[in-house]
Amino acid sequence: MTSKKRKHKRSKGALLIRRIAIVATLLLVLFLLGRLILILMNLVGREQEDVVTINLTTEPMEIFVPEQTTEITTEASTEANNSTEASNSNEIPSDANVTTESITDVSENLTTESSTRSNQTLSFNHIAYYIESRASRYSEHASKHPLKSDEQIVLEVNMNHDFSFYDNIQPAVMPNDLLVLCNKYYKLDASFTPTDLVDVKEGYYVNDGKTYKLASSAHDAFVKMADAAKEEGLNLKIISAYRTNSFQANLYEKYKDRNGQTAADRFSARPGHSEHETGLAIDINDVSSAFENTAEFKWLQNNAHKYGFILRYPKNSEHITGYMYESWHYRYVGETLATELVSADITFDAYHATVLYERYE
Ligand SMILES: [Zn+2]
Repeated sequence: MTSKKRKHKRSKGALLIRRIAIVATLLLVLFLLGRLILILMNLVGREQEDVVTINLTTEPMEIFVPEQTTEITTEASTEANNSTEASNSNEIPSDANVTTESITDVSENLTTESSTRSNQTLSFNHIAYYIESRASRYSEHASKHPLKSDEQIVLEVNMNHDFSFYDNIQPAVMPNDLLVLCNKYYKLDASFTPTDLVDVKEGYYVNDGKTYKLASSAHDAFVKMADAAKEEGLNLKIISAYRTNSFQANLYEKYKDRNGQTAADRFSARPGHSEHETGLAIDINDVSSAFENTAEFKWLQNNAHKYGFILRYPKNSEHITGYMYESWHYRYVGETLATELVSADITFDAYHATVLYERYE
């Protein structure tokens, strides 16, 4: 081998090593870039996740399935109709059998939060609907949910969502008021009876041998609404109205025995917690998910608020209202407020938490 050839071979070897070094460096740079991109994507993803949870100002119409079926009005009729009641109980929406999987508890939505709020002050008095007496609850709730905004923390605590449903039960505030809130946190006394109950006019309830009572304001508004629907060839009939505490107790027990407590709680209120006990709530036509597909339901969607009624347990609101979607259950709140709630797309519970909060101070 000549020296030229050796030299050539050496330089060829050096070139190869250099090439390998360049390729290795490139690979290393690519690897580091990839890691960097992954880290950045993670950060962005987490931020997006954090934003989720609840939408404070305008809560999305959330899901919900309804409350129960059968009803009767007076205690006397309750007893007289025990047998009918039993047969009517088949009307529970099939969705009700779903049991618990779809229940989204507010607290559940928050378990994935990871960062901490430690650098922030735990002061919430800059929020318009701040309730002084709940200051420590805001702090505690915020410490468990560091990524939620101050507004959201205050809203949730005002709705009592720092407790589970049926925990921390308080007496219903102003029980005879048109805007009384009766839900899984606010309970009517067992002896409570609305002061202005009237018999529902004949022709405005399903003809099943029972009679029905309602608060007079809700009654007159329903008559107007049913008359307006009739002009368009649609029939709206009351199938459940005012219920006594003992009637509600029997009804709830029946569902609990049949479906188990967890399932029953999704569509039936425990005694003292049913809006029907206020005399301001009605079920219309058909206590089943089939009602949603009727022309009457579509008409109500467009018109109920004009007569002062709101769909009280809308879709996707179970974590707020505590009940599955009930297309047939309407609550009378008066035309002005009903129209406001529909246009703001918020639940009655959130309205209390953000507008009527002074009642809870
Ligand atoms: Zn109802």
